[in-house]
This record gives sequence, C-alpha cells and structure tokens, in this order.
Amino acid sequence: FVVYGVPIIGSNNVWKGVLLVFHDITEIKKLEQMRKDFVANVSHELKTPVTSIKGFTETLMDGAMNNKETLEAFLSIILKESDRLQSLIQDLLELSKIEQQGFRLNIQEVDLHMLLNEVITILTGKAQAKDIKLELYCKQNHVLINGDLDRLKQVFINLIANAITYTPPEGNVKIILIEHGENVRIHVQDSGVGISKEEIPRIFERFYRVDRARSRNSGGTGLGLAIVKHLVEAHRGNISVRSDLGEGSEFIIELHKYLT
Ligand code: ADP
Repeated sequence: FVVYGVPIIGSNNVWKGVLLVFHDITEIKKLEQMRKDFVANVSHELKTPVTSIKGFTETLMDGAMNNKETLEAFLSIILKESDRLQSLIQDLLELSKIEQQGFRLNIQEVDLHMLLNEVITILTGKAQAKDIKLELYCKQNHVLINGDLDRLKQVFINLIANAITYTPPEGNVKIILIEHGENVRIHVQDSGVGISKEEIPRIFERFYRVDRARSRNSGGTGLGLAIVKHLVEAHRGNISVRSDLGEGSEFIIELHKYLT
C-alpha cells in the first residue's frame, strides 16, 4: 500500500483532521515486474544469437576461414543465428503492434476452408521433410466468416508449424474445420510429444518454452503462442488446449462467424 495524507483545515485555520488515502499498488507492482521480466528476457534472447555470430566471425577472421570445411560450417551457423534474430525481431514487432491501444483488425469476409488449404500448402515442405502426414478435414467447400485474413493466416501458420515441430518424424497432423450454428471451430491435432498438465497454462506466456533447447533448435522464438492468443482474443474468439505428455496435443480455436 501507498498512503497519502492530506490535512483538512477549517475556515478559522483550525486543523479538523487528516484525510488518508490508501492506494493498493499490488497490481501496479505486478505489471512493473512483468515489464522488467520481459525486458530482461528480450535482452537475453537477443544477446544469445549476437554473441554466437560475433564469436564465429572472429574465429573465422583469426584464420579458421582458411579451412574450407570450417568456413562452410561456421557460415551456416552464422546464417542460422541471423535467421533466429530476424524471427525474434519480427515477432517482437508484431506483439508490440497487437498490444498498441489503437490496434484494430481489418475485418473482411474470409473463407476458412480456402485459408487453411493455403496455410497447408505453405507448410507442406516442412511436414514432408519429417515425413509427417498433414491433412485437412472439412465437410463444406466454403466456410465463410468475418475476420482479419492476414492475422488469421498468422494464427494458423503458428499453430500448424508448432504441430509439425513438436511431432516426431512419420507422425500425423490433422486440421479439422467444423461449422456449428453461428460459430466455427478449428482443431489442430498432432501425434507429437504432448504437453504436461502443469505446463499447459504457461505455454501462452511470452518466451515460455517447455524445452528450451528443442524450441531453439527448431527456430522457435517462444512468442508464437502469445501472438496466437492475442489475435484469437482480438477476434473475440477462444483458444483451448487438450494434451498429455507423450500423447500428442490438440489446439481448439472457436470463432464467431459474424464479427462486426
Ligand atoms: P516456440 O517458438 O518455442 O514454439 P510458442 O509460443 O509457439 O514458442 O510455443 C511455446 C511452447 O509451447 C513451445 O516451446 C513448446 O514447448 C510448447 N508447444 C507449442 N505447441 C506445441 C505442440 N503442438 N506440441 C507440444 N508442445 C507444444
């Protein structure tokens, strides 16, 4: 608590008493702590690839580049770390844009069936590289809703890319699109590593990763699901997760068809 005191003085300059204001700053402190944690996390996440890029470049300049194999190996690490840096900056900019006060969706008519097919085409190469079967199930040829095409595309790219990343080779990723009344549901199911009950509530936090090393190696920034949740909620939709460790995961998004 922060306490402010204001003297109350009567007309004849006589003290009548003191007005005390108790201000509960627990929430403010919590927000301040979250902001500090976020800055610390961002700094750490940015520093790691930069340190690595610098280190490998210096080693090359010190003579290691005379060996062609070393040169190629180091350059490919430098490229990978630069890619990571680029994704991180892109995701941070995206998150900060979404969190701006005046952030608005660009609402238009979206055919979800068509959009999901497009996202699957984009991610086919990633799935094929791991021999993962990637399929869309939908009874209707067209499923029309009001939404922001680019943002919804980003939501599905993030979710389906995660499903592929966290599924071992030769697994399955199924996307199911169902209309029911004025709502639509999109299920992204995978036969992957799964998420324990304790971790599920945390995976939407910025930079939270169940397995840091695995996520980093797959090029993950730890911001994907935080962005997904923001965007689904901006559509006044809902996202939930069903999963068990080793049993695969299912992310379910529910959206209203007629968002105005
Ligand atoms: P990342 O870039 O690390 O994938 P995300 O925000 O997209 O970041 O996801 C946060 C964490 O949630 C991941 O690091 C991973 O541990 C877990 N996760 C996300 N999707 C899945 C999934 N389909 N199966 C298992 N774990 C997942």
